Amino acid sequence: MENQEHVVIAGAGPAGLASAITLARAGLSVEVRELRGDVGGHFRGNLQLLTNYPDLEDARTELCSLLGSVPVSLWPQRSAQLFGPSGKCVSGRSSEPFGYLLHRGPDPTALDGALKRAAEEAGVQFRFHTRARPEEVDIVATGGAAAQGVAREWFGRTELPDGFHAVFDNRICPGGFGYLLVAEGYTVVGAAVVRHRERAQEAFHKTVRFFRERAGVPRIEHPTLSGSLDLFLPDPERTNMRPLHVGEAGGFADHLFGFGIRLALQSGVLAAQCVLSGRAFGPAWEEHFGQRFEMGLANRFLYETGGHLAYRWFLSKASCSDFREVGQALYKPNAAKRALAVLARAVWKKQPDCIHGAQCVWCRLQKG
Ligand SMILES: Cc1cc2nc3c(=O)[nH]c(=O)nc-3n(C[C@H](O)[C@H](O)[C@H](O)COP(=O)(O)OP(=O)(O)OC[C@H]3O[C@@H](n4cnc5c(N)ncnc54)[C@H](O)[C@@H]3O)c2cc1C
Repeated sequence: MENQEHVVIAGAGPAGLASAITLARAGLSVEVRELRGDVGGHFRGNLQLLTNYPDLEDARTELCSLLGSVPVSLWPQRSAQLFGPSGKCVSGRSSEPFGYLLHRGPDPTALDGALKRAAEEAGVQFRFHTRARPEEVDIVATGGAAAQGVAREWFGRTELPDGFHAVFDNRICPGGFGYLLVAEGYTVVGAAVVRHRERAQEAFHKTVRFFRERAGVPRIEHPTLSGSLDLFLPDPERTNMRPLHVGEAGGFADHLFGFGIRLALQSGVLAAQCVLSGRAFGPAWEEHFGQRFEMGLANRFLYETGGHLAYRWFLSKASCSDFREVGQALYKPNAAKRALAVLARAVWKKQPDCIHGAQCVWCRLQKG
């Protein structure tokens, strides 16, 4: 794609918009084709966490340089209430934010709305209500294609005080976690489960009950949003091929907790820089994210095989160390974790009917 003047991107999520802004600012003509009628996918104001680990660079600084002068609402998080399997609560505190809460969706101060405005200011053209096929585009940013993880959540107004709460208990959310996030009168309460997709609804009700007893959330009968997380490892050799896959469509998400916004933004920017410089995308992302993916896989393996023991270890670390630094340490490469990643790949073998195609070097696709 060297010296290309016109670039077509499929998907107006964080990954596609980050690519679009970077390319348009460099003077290319950019068209984004989006299936829905606006940006933000199925998110309508939902709160999410923009992680501020394992990267040393501050996530707010990184996002603001992408947005230019376009404002976005961000709530820095320096304290988390974390509940373990026994119901015991510990506080994880950090001197620098371990993350920023933000809204998702088309609102101008939500992440997707702000990215759209920055893209329009850079001259990006949007075609909404348009399903793009990979063979028609240069960059695919269409989000996940399969579900290894499922989340159910409720989003609405609240009088609860601001806060970040999570519960780690396999009897509530098998292989995942429950969460209650509150920022300036908005709240999201949800359950993420990995593998046991059929138990997502039950996990949601158990999570609501748990936080009703612990934090006073109201009785909620039905989730307002269901979503899935697609966890696979991209293949550095195959990801040079056109079209480039970015964000969750390219496997750029964290295997431990499924956080994908920051990697979506970073992979989108990186792919655009590769288009501009003519550098191959595969080696570029391998250099930036390769080790982190391996550590993420090892972390997930520990999380699932260690079960409640692993959750207790995580909480004890969180309670006596800086919480952001705990997040950073989890991704620090070491020989034991490298060996665990190899073991994880061997135990969770890639399925022969994997639908990620040439991009995928490893996944544990579920059917159904
Ligand atoms: C309930 C839930 C909670 C989450 N919470 C967090 C969190 O707190 N922190 C975090 O970091 N991550 C979180 N995630 C993950 C995060 O939402 C994703 O990692 C992130 O949105 C991925 O961005 P993306 O741009 O790759 O894809 P998406 O945001 O999925 O965007 C893809 C876009 O492509 C469009 N599209 C799809 N197919 C086509 C097509 N054929 N043609 C054109 N357009 C198409 C879609 O409509 C969509 O707008 C959560 C996910 C869920 C489901």
